[in-house]
Amino acid sequence: MQNPYQNAMAQLDKVSQIKNFGEDFIEKLRHPDRDIRISIPVKMDDGSLKIFEGYRVEYNNALGPYKGGIRYHQDTEINEVKALAFWMAIKCAVANIPMGGGKGGVTVDPKKLSKSELEKLSRGWVQKLSDILGPKKDVPAPDVNTTPEIMAWMADEFEKITGDKTRATFTGKPIEAGGSEGRGPATGLGGFYVFDTLRGQLGLPEKCKVVIQGFGNVGANAAKIFSQNGHTIIAVSDSKSAIFNENGLDLKKIEEHKKKTGALKDFSGTKNITNAELLELSCDLLVPAAFENVITDANAEKIKAKVILELANGPITPKADEILFKKNISVIPDVLANSGGVTVSYFEWDQNLKNEHWSENKVFDKLKLMMEDAAKKILEKAKENKTYLRMGAFILALERIKEKML
Ligand code: NAD
Repeated sequence: MQNPYQNAMAQLDKVSQIKNFGEDFIEKLRHPDRDIRISIPVKMDDGSLKIFEGYRVEYNNALGPYKGGIRYHQDTEINEVKALAFWMAIKCAVANIPMGGGKGGVTVDPKKLSKSELEKLSRGWVQKLSDILGPKKDVPAPDVNTTPEIMAWMADEFEKITGDKTRATFTGKPIEAGGSEGRGPATGLGGFYVFDTLRGQLGLPEKCKVVIQGFGNVGANAAKIFSQNGHTIIAVSDSKSAIFNENGLDLKKIEEHKKKTGALKDFSGTKNITNAELLELSCDLLVPAAFENVITDANAEKIKAKVILELANGPITPKADEILFKKNISVIPDVLANSGGVTVSYFEWDQNLKNEHWSENKVFDKLKLMMEDAAKKILEKAKENKTYLRMGAFILALERIKEKML
């Protein structure tokens, strides 16, 4: 299988076959402005010294400061971070916010660290990178396994080193540390607004049967929001297992069960299935909300969903995209579907710089307008260029980035 960066570059190749953006511009976008690797020493609780590998990729800042989350995962490596940074550049352009693309990470299984080790690691990441970060330079945020608390440690470390008191260098902070109302559910909610705008056009019924992979920040919030809006969640999963009930799941009880047992499996009234089986269930809407490369040429033929809403980044490989297109399965692409997260991060940055604090209603109203607008424009672009939604999104983004770069 190709790595995520090869997948991202294959998408860039594909869009340049559909619309001519000029070779120089496409060549420029094949390379990040810089990719930085760092070693972070951490004194562990047992007194030993451990060195962790960390990254920051600054991909493109034509539209504004580099923007993108920091991922903590044992499989995180530079190609993954480069792909995610590239997609951030596209995503910010799609969402029409004045920010560029960046991403960071550390190769670590955070579940194996104590809280104090995790704090030292997070502060160490900032110590190594403080020179390149800043409200007008590079603005990180949370991603997989990084939490508001981690953002608060990082923001605090940055302030100690630089004296910058705006708090606008890290987003996704807790409210009391300068965070925005509504950042928690923003990605799932933005995905819902996009889905709701396109639902009729994509031939989906008013009330859909929904399957969700991943039950973290994005997946669990999406499940709640879709369910509150009258849709039926028939299956959900985490890294260990998946559960299914054709008639719908009681999400509140499932959350309690997960809290109590640490897992989703063996919840009464549901059937335990595998993550692979979950992806192949018959449903109106499939929502991958965990990791990249989960729908590939190996399983795309078996997908039975009518529409896929990509809340994870890069869950479908380019080859799988082609197969799904031929099967008439519409894909609402990650760069549109999950752009609610970065949009509210942008609101947070804006509030910090202006020393304001907006109400949750104001945040959600602004988010809704921006998501609806992005969804409609991308549908138009796709129709105009006789292509699918992902390419519509890339065309819109590249037009905006190119105009700024020129
Ligand atoms: P998270 O760490 O909160 O949750 C990840 C979830 O995926 C967990 O429930 C975990 O158990 C599950 N998971 C892990 N491995 C799995 C596997 N092999 N199969 C099925 N499930 C698995 O992370 P998150 O913030 O919810 O991010 C999920 C995805 O959404 C990522 O691709 C991330 O880049 C993307 N995303 C997140 C945000 C955000 O605001 N957090 C914004 C945009 C995109």
